Amino acid sequence: MVEPVAAGQERRRPALSPSRASDFKQCPLLYRFRAVDRLPETPTRAQVRGTVVHSVLERLFGLPVSERAPGQARDLLLPAWKDLLADQPELGELFDGPDDPELARWLESANALLDAYFELEDPRRLQPEACELRVETELDSGVLLRGFIDRVDVAPTGEIRLVDYKTGAAPREIGEAKALFQMKFYALVLWRTRGEVPRQLLLMYLADKQSLAYAPDEAELRRFERTLEAIWQAILRAGRTGDFRPNPSRLCDFCDHKPRCPAHGGTPPPYPGWPEPDPGPESALDRAD
Ligand code: SF4
Repeated sequence: MVEPVAAGQERRRPALSPSRASDFKQCPLLYRFRAVDRLPETPTRAQVRGTVVHSVLERLFGLPVSERAPGQARDLLLPAWKDLLADQPELGELFDGPDDPELARWLESANALLDAYFELEDPRRLQPEACELRVETELDSGVLLRGFIDRVDVAPTGEIRLVDYKTGAAPREIGEAKALFQMKFYALVLWRTRGEVPRQLLLMYLADKQSLAYAPDEAELRRFERTLEAIWQAILRAGRTGDFRPNPSRLCDFCDHKPRCPAHGGTPPPYPGWPEPDPGPESALDRAD
């Protein structure tokens, strides 16, 4: 599906990811700011902690089964944070240097999430087929879906379970609807690529020490597919005209773009135009994940 255009360079078609689809549903203007304007956002400590915890859990499953213990997970935390920092040095600005007591508290809060994970399941009792799996599929309508699944478990009987770790403190009822949307998205991609409807979607809320299991069925995924196609068509319509409307809600309090949002008295930058997939090596939407 990825077409090479030049040596060492790839041109990828615009795709829909669960987060960008959720953005558009929540607020078309937020989608524009993120996927079309590609305006930078300041990550919060909670978001970065989530990234680090995901990285530790991925690394944990790379260890021999007998070593997947809470102490090992704690040992993996600092290296995971340092690797992330090496990759994105600007994240260091979240703290006032390596001796900032806030950093120690933040690391300890990440450890608490890892401890909570062990209360929810025993990683020595399972061997995932994949962690941080990149998935992509094209629907019959031509909509390209793309994303990353935290973990895919496959039972000896062939039944598939998709697992997603939630580390944030978003309001539960909003977070849950969004998380289920995301999981159905992945279930649809898996179904379309493997021909098998996942048996279970498992959301693990580490902060709450709670899991939510959900069993999708084929009819529901078909309906969901139509929903995604409708969202994509709406995005394309807005993209052609630049008419991405703000949809204010209490989630505006978590939006980095509030100062430039007309719903809050701000002025958006001029519309840069819809990113065409053809001319450049990569469109803005491709980098939306
Ligand atoms: S502040 Fe609210 S209405 Fe404005 S772009 Fe952000 S989410 Fe949308």
